[in-house]
Amino acid sequence: MSFKLPVSPLQENVTADLHCYPAKAKDMNAIALPATRVKDWKRQAIAKFDELLHKYRSLQVYMDICARCGACADKCQFYIGTGDPKNMPVARAELLRKVYRRYFTPEGKLLGRLADAEDLTEEVLQEWYTYFYQCSECRRCSVFCPYGIDTAEITMAAREIMSSIGVATKYVTEVVAKVYERGNNLGIPAPAWLDNCQFLEDELKEETGKDIHLPVDMEGADVLLVPPSADNFANTDTMLGYAKMFHAAGISWTTSTYCNEGGNFGLFLNYRNLKKVNQRILHAAKTLKVRQVVWGE
Ligand code: SF4
Ligand code: SF4
Repeated sequence: MSFKLPVSPLQENVTADLHCYPAKAKDMNAIALPATRVKDWKRQAIAKFDELLHKYRSLQVYMDICARCGACADKCQFYIGTGDPKNMPVARAELLRKVYRRYFTPEGKLLGRLADAEDLTEEVLQEWYTYFYQCSECRRCSVFCPYGIDTAEITMAAREIMSSIGVATKYVTEVVAKVYERGNNLGIPAPAWLDNCQFLEDELKEETGKDIHLPVDMEGADVLLVPPSADNFANTDTMLGYAKMFHAAGISWTTSTYCNEGGNFGLFLNYRNLKKVNQRILHAAKTLKVRQVVWGE
């Protein structure tokens, strides 16, 4: 799936193709989502939308109260970077609002386009896929909205609806599937995690002359550290810093090979996976019988 970016007002002469690669069936299966688009996708998408409107009062409010004042329009980095008007937060949210009006408001049901309402069609779904995956859910725009409308929550709802009918991106689904298979976003297997920790212990010995340990799967430690997996693999200075700090403070600590990821990509997919990924931290803490969890990105 691709679209041609218009020339940005800030970056003249720049054009690019964006490809948001669709999820692989194996990853969708691993995270309990339909492997391909479900047959009656329109009905199911509207039913999921209805469920979310009842579940999250904020979503219902955000659908109804936008005054289209435009205060958020130039606050999104994706609009500033691409110059694409549909990347304005208000325009992004409007993609969902139009469908909301059509199926959930009396005027939209009666008057359709005259009430700024739109059927959920293949074209609309393509636009959702393109623009809701260009929102990083950073919440910057909400700071500038006089009503406090949080476009990130609107994006989360749109992605939740899409994932429920089997529409999601390869990047996000692959990462969550890796967490269930190996405990972390990068897919680092347990022996490699252990090996990296031993390597970092050697580095610390060389640097400080001290035996500073990076314990793994140690039962009964005071602290379970849940770092971003990249700290073990790429940003190793941070991992060395944790070890030095715990050593200096005299705190016993450990990492877990079941759950060694501080970043939760469930946030970018749906609530069920967001919760399930977080539950792994609790499970690891209980299994290792630690007293506290230190968890951070
Ligand atoms: S939450 Fe989304 S729409 Fe709002 S500023 Fe961040 S990326 Fe842009
Ligand atoms: S700032 Fe708020 S009310 Fe104004 S257009 Fe943006 S989302 Fe709507």
